[in-house]
Amino acid sequence: MSGEVEVRWTPPGGSERRCRFSETLTIGRGPDCRILLSDPAASRRHARLTLSARGLEAENTSSGNRFLGPAGAPLKAGDSLALQVGDVLTLAGQRVTIASIELPRRAGPSHVRCSRTDCRRRIPADQADCPWCGTSTAFAETDLGGS
Ligand SMILES: [Zn+2]
Repeated sequence: MSGEVEVRWTPPGGSERRCRFSETLTIGRGPDCRILLSDPAASRRHARLTLSARGLEAENTSSGNRFLGPAGAPLKAGDSLALQVGDVLTLAGQRVTIASIELPRRAGPSHVRCSRTDCRRRIPADQADCPWCGTSTAFAETDLGGS
């Protein structure tokens, strides 16, 4: 299952906007960017946010250094940093707030429990039927146990 990040920003002269993404978000002056920067000094692709199981990362994909991290520290072109909820980036003067981060879950359970009461064996989750009694695993309980 994929995770989700919500970011919020207020374009100059506008009201607060928000958007959600599950993998990557591009920010810049280019028309294909989800967050458009109006400043002519912004790069077409100024920044990229990437969500993975490790967390959320921001990368400075611009050619310059108009990229300030959460503490107001500049991030060099090509560098990246880890982000937390509540962090604010300043990209060519536009503030972008990380409103929420939901990490992607790992792949599903490795085993399920056979639903037939006189069997109840652990079955690898990729099996369509219980190898012992033939019961479909469609109704099997998920079993996150280790052994
Ligand atoms: Zn069974």
